Amino acid sequence: MQKVFARPATLLETGFHFCPGCHHGIVHRLLCEELDRLSLADRAVGVPGVGCGVFLYDYIGIDTCEAPHGRATAVATGIKRVLPQQFVFTYQGDGDLGAIGTAEVIHAANRGENITVIFVNNSVYGMTGGQMAPTTLLGQRTTTSPAGRDCQNDGYPLRLTEMLAPLEGVAFAARVSLHNPAHVKKARRALQQAFETQLEKRGFSFMEFISACPTNWRLTPQQSIAHMEEQMLSVFPLGIYKDTTAGVLQKEGESANAVL
Ligand code: SF4
Repeated sequence: MQKVFARPATLLETGFHFCPGCHHGIVHRLLCEELDRLSLADRAVGVPGVGCGVFLYDYIGIDTCEAPHGRATAVATGIKRVLPQQFVFTYQGDGDLGAIGTAEVIHAANRGENITVIFVNNSVYGMTGGQMAPTTLLGQRTTTSPAGRDCQNDGYPLRLTEMLAPLEGVAFAARVSLHNPAHVKKARRALQQAFETQLEKRGFSFMEFISACPTNWRLTPQQSIAHMEEQMLSVFPLGIYKDTTAGVLQKEGESANAVL
């Protein structure tokens, strides 16, 4: 009988610590499928930041280097410059990349560092208890915004992909979502493009995954899927925002959705 579905070789045979309905496991699987497809396991280095994705080294069978909070793109820059033959990616969440590591990611992107940044956006600080993040939606209740995020006091949701895509050093930037199988397939295709960007030495590649955090949203996994579709995607439109092979720099909204 032909085998049509199997665990990627780089995805280690151990249980995830992620909560039920969390999407980190899907991102891990997509990463491993791509590492296998491109035979990168022996030369890949993952750099997880601080957050729920911190245990990357327990789940993916590649070299990893844990970074201090927010510093993953700086650590990845150092590794890539010293070992340019290695394939280097970071794995970061909202707080790590969108708050504490904002300076690092902007400057790494602007320098055109030939690394890939994986950004998991679930609009809260997951690991530390569901505090408001830069990506938290207006009106969203979190442990530090119990009455809902208020723009007068807390500002607006930060759109990292739109912010980084125009920088000249950025060769590829995309925002994808994991709320249904069709979008997981689209996410896989975009991740392939991001990885190939680094392999072709074209510069900085950025992948934002819109993801669920049922635990801190205080929703069931099914309710979380609906929340993503109904609340998050209008604030964070999906699409390929930049792809230098196609010379594309798409505006937020209609053109982005037209692609994904
Ligand atoms: S706290 Fe949220 S992001 Fe963290 S593992 Fe649980 S569901 Fe996932």
